[in-house]
Amino acid sequence: MINIAIDGPSGAGKSTIAKMVAKTLGITYLDTGAMYRAVALHVVNCGKNPSEEEDVKSLLSEINISYIKESDENKICLNGIDVSQDIRRHEISKYASEVSKIPAVRIFLVDMQRKIADTSDVVLDGRDITSYVLPNAKYKFYLTANDTERAKRRFEELKAKGQDVSYEQILADVKDRDFNDMNRDFAPLKKTEDSYEIDSTEMSLQQVVDTILSKIKEIDENDNARVNEKKLNNQVAKQAKDKKKQRGRWFYKGIANFVRKVLKVLWITKIYFKENFPKNSKALVICNHYSALDPCVIMSRIMGKDGKVLMKNEITANSFVDKVSKELGCIPVKRGEADVGAVKNIIGALNNNQPVLIFPEGTRNRQNSKEFLPFKQGVATFAIKAKAPIVPMIYYKKTVIFGRNKLMVGTPFYLDEFYDKKMSEVKESATQFIIDKMKELREEMDILVEKCGGSKKRYLKYKENQSKESSANVGDSSEE
Ligand code: C5P
Repeated sequence: MINIAIDGPSGAGKSTIAKMVAKTLGITYLDTGAMYRAVALHVVNCGKNPSEEEDVKSLLSEINISYIKESDENKICLNGIDVSQDIRRHEISKYASEVSKIPAVRIFLVDMQRKIADTSDVVLDGRDITSYVLPNAKYKFYLTANDTERAKRRFEELKAKGQDVSYEQILADVKDRDFNDMNRDFAPLKKTEDSYEIDSTEMSLQQVVDTILSKIKEIDENDNARVNEKKLNNQVAKQAKDKKKQRGRWFYKGIANFVRKVLKVLWITKIYFKENFPKNSKALVICNHYSALDPCVIMSRIMGKDGKVLMKNEITANSFVDKVSKELGCIPVKRGEADVGAVKNIIGALNNNQPVLIFPEGTRNRQNSKEFLPFKQGVATFAIKAKAPIVPMIYYKKTVIFGRNKLMVGTPFYLDEFYDKKMSEVKESATQFIIDKMKELREEMDILVEKCGGSKKRYLKYKENQSKESSANVGDSSEE
């Protein structure tokens, strides 16, 4: 919201100026002095004394101030009746100054003023706008003129309206009101440090308006410059930080590469049907899990440097391990809770066409059995959310260092029949679908090792014969 706050003593030209500024900017003008005048008018109309705090307080609950827009003017209404003229009577100025000393009156009106400023672009003029009503307003002005000039202006204004007043009287009243306004206990008139002071004694109205408008422009420009400078500084700081991070990363990258190479040598593994792994595409790689080093073979020999693997969060406890493992593509995940950050990283990597390795059993199979541990439902969720293919893999048995480990890569499959459905309703059946696929692959792995001696050639021959046999059987039965 645009809030322009203008304070100053009576007769400084605030309301005329504020009205002109509001009109130029196409925003609302709120004459807060008129509100104090309306309260004073009501008190006087009720035959009460405006200086009697208790009397005035007791009347507040029956005062309703509102505005109606008439051509270019905002008419002020007291309990539904337009009092725009009445409140300008000379004696009301004095009474307004009296009621404005009463804290309950100020609180009552300030509350209304803040609400208006909160909900609309507005120029407000008064005595305490910059210091009390809107101390955080972006544009603050203190408009003044010497007292004889102010009295002269007021005198001419009232004379033009046909009111019978003397200049001396007006001057005395102006001085009186200045004293009242500047010396009351609650929210007195004062120039705040951050208000821009304009002495209008020697200035025309238009000159004052132009000064205010150019100051507003200057404040905006300075503000923009500050925002831009801050943005630039942040950018520079970020670049420097990124550079430093990048420099630091070379070290950990080097170590990660070294680790990959060592593991390749130590973790000797024969990989069957590596060609099933889709290159340069998103993929959720799933595998049975026997050893903490299982991911290394898949990562270094199949998935490549782009690959990611889910690891328990504990690895981040040691900063060195954490950094190296990040270079190796680890996504740390807090177990036993919904780790939103990890989920974002996984989906992000998949959407970035990177393969992600997850062990759906969630932990290592310490019995080293061929049977799987119960599957967690995360894989199904990710595969459905990212519409990613799942690439199943099976280690024949517990993987060992320098052993002749065997890993089979299955045919990728999608969970497309579960897409665009309510996740909570399909998660379970999608997970069962994945389990069935893994069981099929496990059977194939067993055939390959146990019936075909671990030879891919013999396995392919075996499969060929099998399919010939089954098509012959189909032929037989169709002849019957
Ligand atoms: O500005 P105007 O002369 O119409 O205000 C009438 C009186 O209302 C002032 O003399 C002042 O005592 C009081 N007033 C105030 N705080 C404001 C506006 C006006 O105390 N924000």
